[in-house]
Formats: sequence, C-alpha cells, structure tokens
Amino acid sequence: MSLKSVLDQIDNNLPAATDRLLELLRIPSVSTDPAFAAHCQTAADWLVADLQNIGAEATKRDTPGHPMVVGHVAGEGPHILFYGHYDVQPVDPLNLWDRDPFDPAIEETPAGRVIRGRGSSDDKGQLMTFVEACRAWREVNGSLPCQITFFFEGEEESGSPSLIPFMKENAEELTADIALICDTGLFESRVPAIITMLRGLAGIEVEITGPDRDLHSGMYGGLVRNPLHVMSNIIAGLHDETGRITLDGFYDDVPELSDEIRAQWQALSFDHAKFLGDIGLTEQGGEVDRTPLEKLWSRPTCEVNGMWGGYTGDGSKTVLPSKAHAKFTFRLVGQQDPAKIVAALKAYVEASVPSDYKVSYKGDKGAPAAQMSVSHPAFEQARKALSDEWPDAAAYVGCGGSIPIAGFFKDILNMDAMLIGFGKDDDQIHSPNEKYDMESFHKGIRSWARVLEEMTKK
Ligand SMILES: [Zn+2]
Repeated sequence: MSLKSVLDQIDNNLPAATDRLLELLRIPSVSTDPAFAAHCQTAADWLVADLQNIGAEATKRDTPGHPMVVGHVAGEGPHILFYGHYDVQPVDPLNLWDRDPFDPAIEETPAGRVIRGRGSSDDKGQLMTFVEACRAWREVNGSLPCQITFFFEGEEESGSPSLIPFMKENAEELTADIALICDTGLFESRVPAIITMLRGLAGIEVEITGPDRDLHSGMYGGLVRNPLHVMSNIIAGLHDETGRITLDGFYDDVPELSDEIRAQWQALSFDHAKFLGDIGLTEQGGEVDRTPLEKLWSRPTCEVNGMWGGYTGDGSKTVLPSKAHAKFTFRLVGQQDPAKIVAALKAYVEASVPSDYKVSYKGDKGAPAAQMSVSHPAFEQARKALSDEWPDAAAYVGCGGSIPIAGFFKDILNMDAMLIGFGKDDDQIHSPNEKYDMESFHKGIRSWARVLEEMTKK
C-alpha cells in the first residue's frame, strides 16, 4: 500500500498517539536521582509493552544502573537501529513550572499547540515519533518494511554509565546497517537537519610558577617578572589579528568544506545577528575570512575557560604572585588529533616562559571530532524524505558540541549514525516548562514514515 495511506493513518490517529505519549510522560523516570529508580523500571516496562504492541520482540535488559529496552522486528532489506532515551532530567526548581511536570497536557499557545511536561521534547516525544511511525506503517501494511532494532536507554541524562559496556556485550545483537538517533533539533526551529559533523574536544590545565613564593610588589616589583603577566602574554599570543590560532601545525588536519555542504549551509540563511543579539552582542569573533556557520561547526577553536592567580578577594593586596593558572580547551574538527594539539600548546607555553620558570600540567583530556560518511545511501534517502515533509529542504549540518552516542555507534559497533530530531530552540529541555510542539510530534512521525519509505524503496 502507498505511503499516502500510512501518512493518512498517522494524521487520523494523532489523538491516540498523543495519548500514548502523555501516558509515558506521566512516568517520572528521572535517572540521576536514586529515589526515582522504580519509575525508570516502570518507563522501561511501558516501552517493552508498547513495542510488543507493534509486533516487536521486546525485552527489558538489566544493567548495573537503569535498564535498557531492546526490541527486534524481523524483515527484509536494510537493518535499521533506532536509538532514543526514556530517562529525563530532574524538574527542579519545581516552583518555576506552571504545572506539575509529570502531569502533562496539551496547551494552546500563541505559537501553536504544545505538549507540556518533563521529557516531552527530551527525549520521550522524539522517541515516540519513530515508534508511532512504525505503528502506523504496520497498521496499514500488516508488517514493517525492513528489519528494525529499537534501542532505548535510561541513563542518557546521567552520563550513560552502562551504555558502552552494554554495547560491547551485545555488539552482535545491536549491529545494524545504520543507526538513527532522534535526540536533536530542527535548525533554527524550522529546517530539518541531519547532523553529520560533531566537533571534538581537547583540553589541559596549565600552572606557571615564577618566584618560589608570593612576593611583596614594593620589594620585588620591577625586577621580577609577574607570572600572571607571562600567562596573559601566552594567552594573547594564541590568536593572531585575523582570528587564526597560532600553534604550530594547528590547522594541518583541518579539512575544507565540500562545495556541496557549503551551498547547503548558505541556503540555511543563518541569522547570526539574531544569534548574537539573543545574548546581548553585535560583533562576531573568530577567523575573519570564515562564515558564522563555519566558525560554529567546521572550524576549530581555542578557548581559555578560566584563569586565576594572585589575590582575588575583597580590597587590595600588593602581591606579586608566585603562580598563574589557566584552563584551556580546544574544539576540534576533521582529523585533528587531541594529543597532538595538547602537545603543541605545551611546546608553545614552554617556549614562552622565562628559562627559570617552571610549568606543570594536569587534566589532559581529549576526544576527536566525528564526521559521518554521507556516502552511505541512507543519508541522501533521509534528506529527500525530510525535504518532502517540511517546507524547507533538509540540510546536512554540523554541531559545535559533542553528542557521544554517535561516536559510540561508530567506534564500538562500526555503524554510521544519522542524527535527526524535531526539537525546537525554545523547547526548554532540561529547564522548567519543557514542551514539544504538536507540529514537531506530528510532522516528526510523518518524517520517519517517509524515511522508512525512502530507505526501503524497491
Ligand atoms: Zn536527550
């Protein structure tokens, strides 16, 4: 039967789908607080039962923490794994909520109808978009169009301690042709987006020691170099006047964008003035010859996250401090190697301090950037499907931060992951009054039906 019948089924059954989501939202599955552990079990049980309702062989799987839910549907064609998480953030401060966060409801707002409640957007509402698409597909066609594995986690909001061991122990069961992850948003709340680039991270804390004790600036000032000045010069020298990072070899492994991605990003017509205006700013920083989206998604950064030393209490103290400290992090792209970047920073610091100064380090950390290989046909199929559903054409976008789950699928199970989500910027995930637009829920379900259709077309 046709895709149109499935989409009609979704439209006609939206009230029942919404009721099911409301039921799941009533379960307060806060993962970080042990007081809610039984509710996490309840949410997992609820999902097992619902997956069974759509014909999946589903089980709750114990971990040292909250359980995983795994469901399988056999079928021909590609094997798709779908990931979401059923746990939610704590609700504090409760007094800032306009309603009980676990007594969700549909609200009319000037911007349209929303589902209000904890987890409505992150991630229960998003997770259910895929389940509901599968349900409608099965109701119309009698079975699902391909082999599907459902994989729901209950610890995403508390650092996913059981995820890697579970993936390793169940690698064979969880390996599919591609992973779909629904825990992200639309670009600028309107353009359907497939995240294909995630920046990595490297960081280290630096301590510079000059004189072997704090000194009186009246007795020593003028003859002794101040470690805080030395550190400030080091920090100032990390960028040149064009905004480029000056460390040796820093850009060696930074790729240029393909013309295709550049064109897609241009078409997004990102409003950087509004983006900056929302935080009270008007002027952009970064490399002068790069576009705002390149700076956020495909270019590396160097930041000082903290710097301290000397006297910082009330009043004044004429100290010439012995030590200066700074915490540095880098957002990495392409094939940049975290260890190599940290080594380049160390070499620069050591070449910049006076020869009688000492330098020490701690907290060395790093994770490389992730780049999905969009050559997997599922990417173009999903992009077409999303473009068919939404007013704007879908784009491959970057993500300035990191979403570890995508890397785990690649590193542990050797699968590419497609991050597609329907959240909006004002969903207030992790905050009071979280909501999910009814439009996101409805069009999200329809989107997945279209993605399944494109991916399994004969
Ligand atoms: Zn989430």
